[in-house]
Amino acid sequence: MIGNRLLKVAEYVKGERMADIGSDHAYLPIHLVSSEQISYAVAGEIVDGPFQAAAKNVASHGLSGRISVRKGSGLEVIEKGEVDCITICGMGGPLISDILLTGSKKLADKPRLILQSNIHSAAVRNALMKLGYQIIAEDIIKEKKHIYEIMVAEAGEMQLSDAEMKFGPYLLKEQNETFNEKWQKEYLHLQRIEQTIIDKPAQQEKLQEIEAQLKLYQEAIHF
Ligand code: SAM
Repeated sequence: MIGNRLLKVAEYVKGERMADIGSDHAYLPIHLVSSEQISYAVAGEIVDGPFQAAAKNVASHGLSGRISVRKGSGLEVIEKGEVDCITICGMGGPLISDILLTGSKKLADKPRLILQSNIHSAAVRNALMKLGYQIIAEDIIKEKKHIYEIMVAEAGEMQLSDAEMKFGPYLLKEQNETFNEKWQKEYLHLQRIEQTIIDKPAQQEKLQEIEAQLKLYQEAIHF
């Protein structure tokens, strides 16, 4: 039911009460509560189908008294200070970033955040910086041919270089096999685009952007 990606996210959950935003079938809160890792969870969902699926799933596990399934957008489903930890997983970085920035008032007590973006994680790191969070751990995992980044953030200040913002400060330092696989693929993709536009006068602005990106890769990553 719960795959390696969400199991890895679960490892970083801390405290007694958590909220999973965009919970879909509520697999993560069900795992955390039924394994007694935490005592109480909120499962938030904006779309009716997944919301109904979450409510049904929670009820069928006999957990309706310990997992509150709520319909709404982002952090509007929780009260300030209600949970120790918030997970937002399986979405693009810009959507996660938007949920955090829109719901910033709910983050006043600085719950731990565990964020798993599918793409454009830089947008999440940028939002964390604005919100007074610092990244304290990162992970990168491969599941069924897809590569996912996970970041864990707590209250604090951080200053990230362009490379750290793009690749992740801890992931960049470690540069493990999965990290290299992800970015090598992206690097080759960028190089192919560069070749298709290199002699097209109308595309010079785009070419410059791509060349700046390629330079960032070359300087930061040991392929
Ligand atoms: N978190 C689960 C996981 O990682 O497997 C489900 C990921 S699923 C791809 C993304 C879920 O987020 C969908 O069920 C979608 O309806 C929900 N979602 C998207 N935007 C949302 C928002 N602003 N607030 C709450 N849920 C949202």
